[in-house]
Amino acid sequence: MILLKDCFAAAVPAGTTETGASRASSLSGAPDMRGTSGASGTPAAPAPAARRRFDLLRGVDILIDGRRIAKIAPSIEAPEGATVIDASSHVVLPGLVNTHHHFYQTLTRNLPAVQDAKLFDWLVYLYEIWKYLDPEAVYWSSMLAMAELAKTGCTLTTDHHYLYPAGFGGDIPSLQFRAAADIGLRFAPTRGSMSRSKKDGGLPPDTTVQDEDAILAHSEETLRRFHDPAPDAMRKVALAPCSPFSVSERLMRDSAALARRYGARIHTHLAETSDEDDYCVEVYGRRPLEVMRDCDFVGPDVWYAHGIFFNDGELDFLAKSGTGVAHCPSSNMRLGSGICRVREMLDRGVPVSLAVDGSASNDSSDMLGEVRQALLLQRIKYGAAGLTAGEAMYIATQGGARILGFDQAGAIAEGRLADLALFNVMKLEYAGALSDPLAALLFSGYSHGVDYLIVNGRQVVRRGLLVGADEEMIRRNALSACGRMYKKAGIL
Ligand SMILES: [Zn+2]
Repeated sequence: MILLKDCFAAAVPAGTTETGASRASSLSGAPDMRGTSGASGTPAAPAPAARRRFDLLRGVDILIDGRRIAKIAPSIEAPEGATVIDASSHVVLPGLVNTHHHFYQTLTRNLPAVQDAKLFDWLVYLYEIWKYLDPEAVYWSSMLAMAELAKTGCTLTTDHHYLYPAGFGGDIPSLQFRAAADIGLRFAPTRGSMSRSKKDGGLPPDTTVQDEDAILAHSEETLRRFHDPAPDAMRKVALAPCSPFSVSERLMRDSAALARRYGARIHTHLAETSDEDDYCVEVYGRRPLEVMRDCDFVGPDVWYAHGIFFNDGELDFLAKSGTGVAHCPSSNMRLGSGICRVREMLDRGVPVSLAVDGSASNDSSDMLGEVRQALLLQRIKYGAAGLTAGEAMYIATQGGARILGFDQAGAIAEGRLADLALFNVMKLEYAGALSDPLAALLFSGYSHGVDYLIVNGRQVVRRGLLVGADEEMIRRNALSACGRMYKKAGIL
């Protein structure tokens, strides 16, 4: 047992429940995506979940028993043998949820040649380095990414690993699940894929794509070995063909059908750039979301990364079909891709989550920092009330947990999973900002590190340091993996 004493807690508001009821379960009656604002021209009513705020409880204790939050109340007496943490200086958040990443990219961040490149040029350059990925690089980049995520408040993350280079010689899902267990995070990665290389009109080199039958066979094997459909699982698997410009329609369709047979979720990149719009119209004769609809790659078990270039009719379609969007503000700014219409998505009832995206386009895995980016970026587009601190926190917690299929995570309430992030706000950088301690984490401060991170009732970060892994060893091994790849690619 763990008892957190005397904290500020960002709890689910009293008298509310999280049912996910705003999601439609059927596509029947979905509006025409080519319309500009739906058939009637009337925007859909805002979904209740989109306006949700947190109750900031002051001076409460939180008792964790096993994997769950047992009790939230003032002055709980410590049970015998309980570990007691003085949380009187801390804001306790539900663990932040990261819904899109490419862990291996931690090894190729900030490369000078593509610091100022847009997406397609950036990809073409980096593929020539990524093709030298080896098993050690996969393990240590996963350790590095998850270490950064854990230390900045993330308790649950996915990863989108779509790169299976020829002659790789390792088992990527096993390597990644081992890293997640070593760090201690709840982990729901995707089995990604690419099948359309340069010779087929795609962007990746031939040695980084796979045969589609081999992809589907390995996808099924990965689902069988690692996917746990329980809502309180430590492990889930989703299937994630990389993008409309790196796989075929057949692989999109077959991957979606296969995932559904196992009760697993489905993911891809979509509507990230105007180049992608042009590519889809030229190659498929349809816009990206129309291609997805025709592949049955839409619905409440599907989420897309980015979603910047959806038109009004497409936003209505996402809301009606319950299809989710992982918003990646830093990556979108870094690559100059554009601004996702999060405000309008929330008002329509589109499920929205938050993500840091791969570390070659962020170039960090700073989860709390990403929530601040989301808050600020919407205000560029929609004005000073474009997104509130509560809404930004909402999409980063409950929004993400729902999109990844973990309905018992993402909120502080009795009976919920004990996934919690404790930030110390009694520090110089928060002085003067504590009239609203929860919002202070986004409006003020410059260090986004947690003091404590608890996942599934276990301490993963204690006094700012990882409990289960040696941070210096992660740093050194990640650097070695970088060195090998850069040398083979001839950029050292
Ligand atoms: Zn991505």
